[in-house]
Amino acid sequence: MKIITPPIIITSLFHSLEWQINDARISRKLYLSFDDGPTPQVTDFVLNQLCKNSIKASFFCIGANIKKEPQLFQELIKQQHRVGNHTQHHVNGWKTNTSTYLNEIEACEKILQEYGYQHDGKPLFRPPYGKITRDQIKALKHKYRIIMWSILGYDWLPYKNPHQCLRNILKPLRSNAIIVLHDSLKASINIKHALPEFIKQAKDQGYTFDKI
Ligand SMILES: [Zn+2]
Repeated sequence: MKIITPPIIITSLFHSLEWQINDARISRKLYLSFDDGPTPQVTDFVLNQLCKNSIKASFFCIGANIKKEPQLFQELIKQQHRVGNHTQHHVNGWKTNTSTYLNEIEACEKILQEYGYQHDGKPLFRPPYGKITRDQIKALKHKYRIIMWSILGYDWLPYKNPHQCLRNILKPLRSNAIIVLHDSLKASINIKHALPEFIKQAKDQGYTFDKI
């Protein structure tokens, strides 16, 4: 079975995790998010699309990638997008003990500060692979908003084509949804085709966009 949206049992079990934006006042809002960057050629492309459409989005960056691409990271800041923590080396919470996991997040946090990002409100964290243990949630939930997703594009999978990715994000579209795409090399071809078309069709359906 293909899981596009998280099953109810998971959402209620991990109630400290955010699977959508809970704001009853806002209707037809979407929250685009991009994981695993910054990546040359890909993040630039995404930024360009967002800028052309006056959209603010959220980028869950890997600390090591920020270190490699400081200029690109500066662009994210300059264009006033939201930046969240995605660990220093994209570690899997289920395979990492809690103290190492927290160190990974702390290291990424230091990089964010070092390269000039200032949080506006409670810092955001998204666990790589969506994998995080109860202990890790407990240790993090007071300092971070732990942001999961409502809709996945599956854009990083080599056997998905751009049309499938577009369908994956358009079909379950609903107000307040958090959408995950990737500004990574793996997702590059899919995202370059699917993102412009997605923005166009979502706008045609009356949706607007915001950062988390
Ligand atoms: Zn990731």
